[in-house]
Parts: sequence; structure tokens; C-alpha cells
Amino acid sequence: MTAPNPAAIAASLVEFGAVSTTEKLAKMADFCQKRRAGTVRQHRPALTTNREGPATMAKPIPTPIPEDVKARFWAKVDVRGPDDCWEWQGSRTNKGYGGFSINSHPLKAHRLAWQFANNRDWPAGLEACHSCDNPPCVNPNHIRPGTRRENIRDRVERGRNAGTAAVNAAKTHCLRGHPLSGDNLSIRTRGETRMRHCRICAALHTRRWRARKKGAAQ
Ligand SMILES: [Zn+2]
Ligand SMILES: [Zn+2]
Repeated sequence: MTAPNPAAIAASLVEFGAVSTTEKLAKMADFCQKRRAGTVRQHRPALTTNREGPATMAKPIPTPIPEDVKARFWAKVDVRGPDDCWEWQGSRTNKGYGGFSINSHPLKAHRLAWQFANNRDWPAGLEACHSCDNPPCVNPNHIRPGTRRENIRDRVERGRNAGTAAVNAAKTHCLRGHPLSGDNLSIRTRGETRMRHCRICAALHTRRWRARKKGAAQ
């Protein structure tokens, strides 16, 4: 027996019409470009299986959400006074947030509670900020939509370790003590990342770099 030759197999598949190499490569390149540009989302639609056939797409989330679904939702909430935390009694994510499924779509309970109480969709692109800092709480009075930056700042103010982005967002001065404000603050963006830089230090780096280059040339 001879060892299989991958190139020959690929060629026979192309010949057979199973795959077209150029088409496949073009699709891959297109996908990578979209991923880089951020126009493809990593979320996959929920799938349901049935015995007769392959996986099929789940039914969409109905709009508006029917009253019986809302009733099923509120039955899982320990509703208390307007200022108390209303803890979710159903399943929770590993971070402690409540989970609720509608037509097999896993959804976040605290966002749904806010949506039901305010009778509107969750604002696109915004995160949920919990004023009580209690993940299982779904009291709509304790939840507000906010930007990632606001969310991180809130967590820093409450003394929770929120990672490098939070530490950087909280900085008011650069490493050398120059203020990160006014004319000295320069903001560069790369994709969705926004970086603050100190102009004095940037100028210093440029001068040093030029001096090194000059030294190397002599
Ligand atoms: Zn709360
Ligand atoms: Zn500086």
C-alpha cells in the first residue's frame, strides 16, 4: 500500500466538485478581513436538534415578548422592596448573573428585567451597570445601560479589581508624573481601543530615538 498523498486527494476533491480551492481560499480571506474589521460577530445562533433531521435554527425571539413569557420570568425573581436587591432564583452563569432562555436563546436575566420594566429594547452596544454590584440582582432600579468605560470606572470606584484596562483608565498622570489631561493628553485609537498618551514623554522618546539614529550613522 502506498501512503495517501494529501495533494492528490485535494486535487481529486476539487476535480470531483466537492470543494473549489480558489473559492475556499477566497472565502477564508474574506472572513479574516471581516473579522479584522469587526463586522462578523462570534455569536452563533442557537441551534435546536430534532430526531428526523440535522440541527435546525431555533425560532427567533418574539417581539414584543409575550406576557406568558414575562410571567415565567418574574416567577424566578425574589421580588422585594424598590431599593432592595431582587435576586434571581433560576440558573446562573459562572459569574453569578441570572440566565433565562426564550426559544432556546440564552439571555441575561438582569437585562431582560430592565427591558420589561422600561418597556424597550436593550440599547445596542451598551453594557449593564449594576449600582448594587450584586450579579444575581435583577431589580430594574439597580441596573442601567452604560458604556464599558463607565462600567470599569464604577468597578474601580468600588475597589474591585477590574484588570489592566481599569487600572489604565483610572490613571491621571503618566509614569513620570506628567498630567494626563489638557494639552498634554494625546488620544490614539486602534480599532475599538482608545489609548491615552503623554505628549511630553512622547516628545522625549522621539528626541532619544533621533539621537540614537544619529549616533549609529556616525
Ligand atoms: Zn441590586
Ligand atoms: Zn509623561
